[in-house]
Amino acid sequence: MIAKVIVDVAVNQTDRVFDYLVPAEFEDAIVPGMRVNVSFGPRKVQGFVLATDDHTDYDRGKLKPLAELIDLYPPLTEELLELSKWIKDDTLSFHISVLKSMLPAAMRAKYQKKLSLKSPEILNELPLSLQQFFKDDKEIENWDEWRKQANDEDKKQMMKAVKDGVLSVTPLVMTNETKKKQMVVFTEKTSQELAQASETLTARAEKQKKLLAYFSENLATHEKIPLVQLLDRAGVSRQTVQEMVKKGLLIKAEQVVDRDPYEGRTFEQSQPLTLMDEQQQALDPILSSLLEERHETFLLRGVTGSGKTEIYLQAIDYALKKGKEAIVLVPEISLTPQMVTRFKGRFGSRVAVLHSALSKGEKYDEWLKIREGKVDVAVGARSAIFAPFENLGIVIIDEEHETSYKQEEVPRYHARQVAIKRGQFYNCPVILGSATPSLESYARAQKGVYHLLTMEKRVNDVQMPQVSLVDMREELRNGNRSMFSNQLLSAIQDRKDKQEQTVLFLNRRGYSTFIMCRDCGYVAECPHCDISLTYHRSNQSLQCHYCGHIETIPSICPECSSDSIRFFGTGTQKVEEEILKIFPEIRVIRMDVDTTRRKGSHEKLLQQFGEGKGDILLGTQMIAKGLDFPNITLVGVLAADSMLHLPDFRSSERTFQLLTQVSGRAGRHEKTGEVLVQTYTPDHYSIMDVKSHDYLSFFDKEMNIRKQGGYPPYYFLVIIHVSDEQLDRVVSVTEKITGFLKNHLSTETMIYGPVASAIPRIKDRYRYQCMIKYKVEPKLTETLQEVIKTYQGEMARTGLAITIDTNPYMML
Ligand code: ADP
Ligand code: ZN
Ligand code: ZN
Repeated sequence: MIAKVIVDVAVNQTDRVFDYLVPAEFEDAIVPGMRVNVSFGPRKVQGFVLATDDHTDYDRGKLKPLAELIDLYPPLTEELLELSKWIKDDTLSFHISVLKSMLPAAMRAKYQKKLSLKSPEILNELPLSLQQFFKDDKEIENWDEWRKQANDEDKKQMMKAVKDGVLSVTPLVMTNETKKKQMVVFTEKTSQELAQASETLTARAEKQKKLLAYFSENLATHEKIPLVQLLDRAGVSRQTVQEMVKKGLLIKAEQVVDRDPYEGRTFEQSQPLTLMDEQQQALDPILSSLLEERHETFLLRGVTGSGKTEIYLQAIDYALKKGKEAIVLVPEISLTPQMVTRFKGRFGSRVAVLHSALSKGEKYDEWLKIREGKVDVAVGARSAIFAPFENLGIVIIDEEHETSYKQEEVPRYHARQVAIKRGQFYNCPVILGSATPSLESYARAQKGVYHLLTMEKRVNDVQMPQVSLVDMREELRNGNRSMFSNQLLSAIQDRKDKQEQTVLFLNRRGYSTFIMCRDCGYVAECPHCDISLTYHRSNQSLQCHYCGHIETIPSICPECSSDSIRFFGTGTQKVEEEILKIFPEIRVIRMDVDTTRRKGSHEKLLQQFGEGKGDILLGTQMIAKGLDFPNITLVGVLAADSMLHLPDFRSSERTFQLLTQVSGRAGRHEKTGEVLVQTYTPDHYSIMDVKSHDYLSFFDKEMNIRKQGGYPPYYFLVIIHVSDEQLDRVVSVTEKITGFLKNHLSTETMIYGPVASAIPRIKDRYRYQCMIKYKVEPKLTETLQEVIKTYQGEMARTGLAITIDTNPYMML
């Protein structure tokens, strides 16, 4: 028997299947998707079994046997293995990188495997020689240890029993957290006994009495409380507890901390709501697709508050009733407790949550529940798209326009594409939901590639918030040089008086990368590309990131001759200070990278705001989504334009999406909402269309611009990045690549470059790039693979690095 293995050595020559002989011992146990240890040259490396076969084409000597099976149960399913091949080609990644990225991080470490009987009744299904190991609930605690002493026949039989499903394997991931323990305290005495003991204490032992009283009032006999919690609640010191332990009244013990982050929390059970007409019309076609087991991709465009989540819930419910499983992707920053509660509330413990804030071990536990079929809904960020379900019934991507669905490291896949691949495999629907779909998706829906579903109204006829634009140039002319317009200040005061809440949004992306005139709003743009120029601090110049055009920084505005031309920038901390100067009595909750660095702090701040412990929630991107608090009636956007001038053809789209998203936080319930958008470019279409809540108008205008500029969705893009410590090598290699592409790709395809990257040197490495724009290019993958092949030798020898992004979202 031969195993076809992908080895964990990421260089081009190794990016293919290698054949290994399967020792007789493993023949019955080996399954595609398992990891194995093999020798590769002088090294021992890990590998993934792609397939087994009785045939090899290898004809240069004897095949090496594979050394060891790492898994007894394959972590990857056959479907995921197939999927990995597609992703590898689509993203031009090494196969091994794709396979590894499909597994939770904890699995990269070695782990201990426990073997136990699936259920006591089936003991006699085991060969007689093995029964002794599992009699009377016995288990094999450590398979690898056991295996060292066992005879070959027993080992073989044991692995077969695993494969046949008689034995189950419980992997114990060997990370430090596995053993995370905490001190707990409990008592074996009744409360009367404690009261009696308390009386024998001297009057001065006040703390000790307090502690015993806490126990008899709050805890049953044998009920455990974590030590830290006890100290906090009873208000005593460790020493006091220790004294009571010494007297034998309390007992201290170590307990393993349960890693289920949501265990112990109760989620109020929610019932399906009666749908609004629009909701029902959107849900019906999804249910048909589920019923007929037909793959279809739906684009659900529903304004903020139109009840998209309820549709997801009911569609999932239908899939579960058919015995199928569901994956729900939400952007990392929307994976708030509020969001999780909505899914846990409807489906309870059938939901696994894959969240980057979880520890490695916790993530692994959630993943395992999916792999073992203990749950049938997976909710998570991008990588949850690889949830190893085997009977998938529906995939949902909420906020489908979010760029975080694109992975910005190898393998550079987009979760939307992966979702559709999986949907095709399982003949099941994929739902892309958003209030502001990406241009790519909406264009596809218009062409009928996706099935368009539209909801224009908010649930229960709640009105869309009233959006007003505040022209900051006007403020300046009237002598207001602060970051707040008078209109915004009086609105804040008004909400404070009414005891309603305000969200202040500061868009920090894009600060200081462009130059703007504060008097007229002029922004320097490239004369050839209609894209704003990037400020390069190093040589004090403005450069076009696309074509390489360079100019000097003007000292006066070319439009209005004012000298107020400068970089644009401010931080949340500064804003907070300024607010407190004006309104000393206002309570501000600030949410940004600084205040949310610690685990759980994001959640805590939101909770405080929800409980009304703040008048203003001030923050960056992370407050734009998922907030649903009834008392928010004002949203203020401090600088709507900051992102508009990033050297990125998607900057208008992102501005429109973000502003719509932020506006959607206001007035979601009975109280009506108002949104004040401060801007220097109130007549830019991406800002005007936010005011009129007009996605379609925005879409049409932006499509026109993309068409003229030759950008997606009219063209596909590929960016090739080249970097090296030696500038001349970077330039010459990028030049050669550009030339090669021009010779090999079709004449309709456009190739731009070489151009210095927006950040031309990082960590002493020079960076250049070239860009491909194409409509149809059958030879693309082949040609790009050829590029990598040509330079792989040089890359291995020198520090030269070439990366290819076949669907770029990061243009900087
Ligand atoms: P979206 O995701 O489209 O922004 P949500 O799903 O958050 O909208 O829904 C907005 C609010 O409306 C939520 O509080 C939700 O519980 C409520 N809601 C949704 N559908 C209904 C319905 N059919 N009847 C009553 N309330 C609903
Ligand atoms: Zn000007
Ligand atoms: Zn240009």
